[in-house]
Amino acid sequence: MALLSAFEPETNAPPLPPEVTQALFMERTMSVSRLESFAVCPYRHFVEQGLSPKPRKEWTLTPIDAGNFYHSALEGFTRLLPTIPHWPKIDKKTCDAMVDQAAEPLFEQLLSGVMGDSARMRAQGEKYRRVLKRVAWTFTRGAKQSAFSPQSAEVKFGYGEGTPPVALTLKDGSTVYVRGIIDRIDRYEGDAGVYLRVVDYKSGTEKLDAARIFWGTQLQLLLYLRAALSQEENAQPAGAFYMRVADPLEADREDTAQVEDALARALCLRGVALKDAAILRAMDDGSPPLTLPKVLTASGDFDQRAMLANLEDMKALIGHASQMAAQWAEKMRAGEIDASPLCDQKLKGPCEYCDYAAICRRDVSRAPENARRMQEMHFDALLEEINKRKA
Ligand code: SF4
Repeated sequence: MALLSAFEPETNAPPLPPEVTQALFMERTMSVSRLESFAVCPYRHFVEQGLSPKPRKEWTLTPIDAGNFYHSALEGFTRLLPTIPHWPKIDKKTCDAMVDQAAEPLFEQLLSGVMGDSARMRAQGEKYRRVLKRVAWTFTRGAKQSAFSPQSAEVKFGYGEGTPPVALTLKDGSTVYVRGIIDRIDRYEGDAGVYLRVVDYKSGTEKLDAARIFWGTQLQLLLYLRAALSQEENAQPAGAFYMRVADPLEADREDTAQVEDALARALCLRGVALKDAAILRAMDDGSPPLTLPKVLTASGDFDQRAMLANLEDMKALIGHASQMAAQWAEKMRAGEIDASPLCDQKLKGPCEYCDYAAICRRDVSRAPENARRMQEMHFDALLEEINKRKA
């Protein structure tokens, strides 16, 4: 308790003493999620990473377990692709068999876990299998009308990994290195050169949000894109996307053409794409598109609602994410532990789902007094603002 009371949260709290900061936060390498966690609330980051309380573990299947299962299975599926000469020109049966092969070791692991080979675990496994088959088939259908192909899966970047870490230079001249795992890198080589896009699998409906990019709480996709581009000289950024891994349709619905199209709409890539009609067509030349939401109108113009950035803007976005990441690393190293959650205009934010409210002693039924308020932002306004700052 002595340690807790010494670090009670307060607005504009004095920084941690240098010796404490030195002991807790001076690593040279950190993950993107850690930087994002600091951006959302420095005090929560301090409790989570510094005090590191260990919540009691309950042996149940949580959504995290499902997420890990899907990630590993899709990694296995992607690794099988080079062994199937005609992929993506395969039928659904072949695609299902590939999922079975890729996921088999994971099913065995699931049934030999602490919950054992029970009816409940078998039902859970069957649900995972159904989701994976629908996702893999949607991915395969989309690939049939795309010139981008999966280049690698679960790409680790960081020290000692095949791909170098993202280096951030701080104001004092020191360097912090960012590590991570990119779920998938897709590649296209056309007349104008090589283009890469990164894809991150999410079981929820995560979307890129202009305000969150601006405030530096959504760094992941853009830093992953920077890491992917470091793999290949002269490669250009084609985009950075989330891909939903879920089955939003009823389990027992027959896989008709309408069901498959509804799935494609629900699971399409969501993120920022290069504003280049040729590259957008290389990503998806179908009508209707299956892998991207509508980015071009019928007359071939760019759809105003799409998140599109030209090459300079794409570089500016990566530069902004890098600058924000460096800023968080600097503040972390300076011992900042303000309980200043980043909220929306209605003061909704991280306090509502924070595990550490009891330590922070915040009354979660009331709006936080010292929140930073994030205003909604249109993507064009974000580009304008970050380009202004760059100038
Ligand atoms: S309850 Fe809110 S202010 Fe307190 S640590 Fe959690 S996010 Fe931060």
